[in-house]
Amino acid sequence: MTIILSLEQTHMRLVHSPIFLGLVVLAASPSFSKAVTEADLRSHIGILASDAFEGRKPGTAGEAKTVKYIAKAWAKAGLKPAAADGSWFDPVPLIQRGQCISKHAFTAKGRPLRIGSDDIILIGKQASYIRGDLPLVFVGRGVTTQGNVAADVKGKAAIILFDAENVAEGMKSPRARREALIAAGAEAVIFVADSRGNWPTLRRQLLSRPITLEGREKRAPLEGAISTEFAVGLVTAAGQDWDKLRANAKQADYAGEALGIDADLDVKTDLYRFNSSNVIGKIAGRKKNSGALVFMGHWDHLGICAPEGAPDRICNGAVDNASGIAVMNEVAKALAKKKHDRDIYFLATTAEESGLLGAYAFADKPVLPLDQIILTLNIDTIAIAPRGSKVAIIGRGTTPLDAVVETVAKKAGRTIEESTDANAFIERQDGWALAKKGVPALMVGGSFADLNLLQKFLGSDYHGPNDALTDRTELGGAAEDADLHIALGRHFADTRKYKSKKAGE
Ligand SMILES: [Zn+2]
Repeated sequence: MTIILSLEQTHMRLVHSPIFLGLVVLAASPSFSKAVTEADLRSHIGILASDAFEGRKPGTAGEAKTVKYIAKAWAKAGLKPAAADGSWFDPVPLIQRGQCISKHAFTAKGRPLRIGSDDIILIGKQASYIRGDLPLVFVGRGVTTQGNVAADVKGKAAIILFDAENVAEGMKSPRARREALIAAGAEAVIFVADSRGNWPTLRRQLLSRPITLEGREKRAPLEGAISTEFAVGLVTAAGQDWDKLRANAKQADYAGEALGIDADLDVKTDLYRFNSSNVIGKIAGRKKNSGALVFMGHWDHLGICAPEGAPDRICNGAVDNASGIAVMNEVAKALAKKKHDRDIYFLATTAEESGLLGAYAFADKPVLPLDQIILTLNIDTIAIAPRGSKVAIIGRGTTPLDAVVETVAKKAGRTIEESTDANAFIERQDGWALAKKGVPALMVGGSFADLNLLQKFLGSDYHGPNDALTDRTELGGAAEDADLHIALGRHFADTRKYKSKKAGE
C-alpha cells in the first residue's frame, strides 16, 4: 500500500519537529494542533487493560475503577458531566442469572419416569419457579420452513432441537427460534443438544451467567437445556420413540407433538440485579438547537474469563476496547480545547460484550432527543492496523454522510477503502443500537479497512487473555484514526462546514 503525503500532512510533520515548534505558537492555527501519539494511547490502555482492572466486567470492582478513570480523564479534558441526573454516570439496570437448585420430576399418566441422566439445566426468570403438572410438547426446531410456530405451546414446556435444519431463513439461530416460541406463549423453552458436541456448548452458555438488560429481556418464565441422553431417556420411559420424533420434525410444516409427559418443578435461580453505568460527558455547543454529534465506545470487557488454574485468567481487552476508550479520551481532550457550534457528546457504554446492552439502554432513554443527533461515531477495536492504512466506513451506504466523511479523511491525508465489506460488522457494534432507531451511525477508521488483518486478530487474541497490551501492540493506525476523529468532530460540529437538514437549518 502506498502512502501519498498531502501538502497539509507534510506541513504538520514540519511544525511538529522541534525546530519548528515555535511556529505552532506563532501560527496559532487550530487546525495544526498536536497530533495524537502512540504514547498518548499507550498510557490510557496501560491502565484500562492492566490486571488491576480485572478485565472491566460490568458489576465488578473492575467496573468501578474503569468508569472512575474515564470520568476523571474527561473532567481533566474539560468536558462537563451529561448523564440524566447531572453526574457522569447513567445507570443501566442489568440482570445476571446463575443456576442454583433445581428439583424436577417427570410423570406420564401419573407414573414417575426414571430417566438415567442428570444432564439438565433449568434457570428461571424469577428467583423462584414452582410449577406442577407442566405439559411437555416436542416442537422439533420450533419453527416451520415459513418461519412460524405451528405447535401449540401456550402455557406448556417446549422441547426444542438445538440444531437448525429445515427452518426458515432468518430463524437459524437458537435465539430467534427461542424468541418465536416465547412470543407464541411458551411457559418454558428447553433445548435438546441434538448432535455431538452441542451439550458442552449449551451447558457452557447457560452456566456462564449471561448478563441481560432489564426491560428488554425476551425470556420465558423457565429456560434450560437437556442432553440427547436425557431426551432419549425421558421419551423412552414414557413409551415413545426418540428417532421417530426427530424424523417427524423434518416435515416442512411440523406442528409438534404432545409428549404425554408432565413436569413437577421447583427451581431456585441465583438472580443478581445491579446497576452498571454508561459514562456520559459533553462539550456544550455555542449555537442552541443546532443538533449534536456523539462519540461512543464501549468500556466493558469479559473480566476473569479463563478457568481456575489457567496461567492467565484475565481477559484484559487491550484492543477490545481499551483502545477505543483511549482514542475517545484523546479526541475529547483535543476537541474541548476550543468552542464548537454544536454540542459534542461522549458516551462510554457498558455491557457491549453482552449484546450492545449499554447502547440499547442509551437508545431507550437518551439524554438528548435522538432526532437531534446529526451523527454518532462509534470507536471499537481500533488498535489493529498500522499507520498509512485506508479508511473504511462501517455503515457505508446507510446514511447520506459517506461523501462528507471521505472529504474530511482525504484532507487529513488518508485514502479511502471504497468497498462495503466492513458492513459485515454493522450489527456487531454499539452504533447499531442507535442506527436501528434511525440515528445516522458510522464507524470510521483503518482497523476494518484490511479485513484479513482484522480476522487475524479475531481468530487469535480476540476475547482471550492474550488481548493484553504488549510492546508489539500496533497503535500507529489508532493514533492516526484519533486525529481523523478529531478532524471529523471539528467538521461535523461546525454549522457552516456541515449544514444538517435534521437540525432545521
Ligand atoms: Zn468484544
